[in-house]
Amino acid sequence: MLDWDSVEITQADAMHVMPTYARQPLRVVRGKGVYVFDDQGRKYLDFTSGIAVCGLGHCHPALVAAATEQINTLWHMSNLYLTEPQARLAEKLTAASGFDRVFFANSGAEANEAAIKLARRYSKHTFGAHKGEILTFTHSFHGRTLATVTATAQPKYQEGLGPLPGGFRYVEAPSLRAVQEAIAPKTCAVMVEPIQGEGGVRPMKKEFLQDLRELCDAYGLLLIFDEVQTGAGRTGEWLAWQVYGVKPDIVTMAKSLAGGLPMGATMAMEDVAVSLSAGTHGSTFGGNPVAARAALAVLETVLAPGFLVRVRESGQELQTQLIKLASKLPEVVEVRGMGLMWGVQLERPDAGKVVDACRERGLLVLTAGADTIRLLPPLIVTGNELEWAVDMLGEAIESVYAKVNEC
Ligand SMILES: *Cc1c(COP(=O)(O)O)cnc(C)c1O
Repeated sequence: MLDWDSVEITQADAMHVMPTYARQPLRVVRGKGVYVFDDQGRKYLDFTSGIAVCGLGHCHPALVAAATEQINTLWHMSNLYLTEPQARLAEKLTAASGFDRVFFANSGAEANEAAIKLARRYSKHTFGAHKGEILTFTHSFHGRTLATVTATAQPKYQEGLGPLPGGFRYVEAPSLRAVQEAIAPKTCAVMVEPIQGEGGVRPMKKEFLQDLRELCDAYGLLLIFDEVQTGAGRTGEWLAWQVYGVKPDIVTMAKSLAGGLPMGATMAMEDVAVSLSAGTHGSTFGGNPVAARAALAVLETVLAPGFLVRVRESGQELQTQLIKLASKLPEVVEVRGMGLMWGVQLERPDAGKVVDACRERGLLVLTAGADTIRLLPPLIVTGNELEWAVDMLGEAIESVYAKVNEC
């Protein structure tokens, strides 16, 4: 049935898919564990995890079994009715995350939209109708819907999209004074990624998040953590807030929550959560039974005894190797990250060229801005694979700079 050759596929894509993605010249046909395979049968070490989505690698047997069983049983039902996978997931997910209630969506942007709606409804109800403005940070990324792209304090994502919705104000990260100065009577919440992902892999300092928490408490503001990229074990804990020991009022997840099936989640404690009362928000697909079953399998796997310990160990090993690489290569300015989420900043905006050079060597990596290479390996990665990847990355960086220096 699916029997097109590479030329037919490339042409159809180029002519008929809206040109929003700068596609890499690689057609992936299959994935297994930390590897994907292209149409020539070539194998690549996938240190993108589909942008932090396949957190347990590709086609993890427990996830495949859970989702397959559910597909054969019930693969969609309206949220007007109860379904067991969603209810079970709600109980397990909120317990693991430290919250009372969850709203299920299908993506990170939607999870953040729900967080924005929840923060506004709670604050207006609690403090008055004037409350509605949300503070967000420079270098942030919160999604592509009109509200979340406005929350995203990076002009490059907003170009040509006006008029943008109001109610957001940008603050220099990570400056507590800037937050203090931006707080006004209409402010209702502060939204922050504990580790900024798209904006350059920038972990917030623990003291900054602690101070932010205190400031929010003092002014009656809700603290929202966007954990769409950091959630589901990536940092060595289920959520990054558990690493920092700073608990937000609202947390959002998506990306690897269901291991590759679309799912987003917005969580809060009871007193805040009840503000999204019946009829105030909703989603046709949110909490879909197949995605919910997959997410249950993700939770079970990640929270199994020893799993997160191994993620922390792998993270430390990756950190050690990247620091070693940086000391060897003068072109590397800084390495930043936590757990299995790392950024390698170059002295020049050559991250795209390094991504190409890595791919040619059999390693898939991402950028985070023009000068930073982003590594998001599956959490099941082994020590050997980390070593190969860092070796290939080193060779790739050297090859790019050798070319640059020749010119
Ligand atoms: C990817 C991402 C989003 C957007 O998620 P989508 O599923 O693409 O809508 C939002 N916030 C953060 C921190 C992200 O990394």
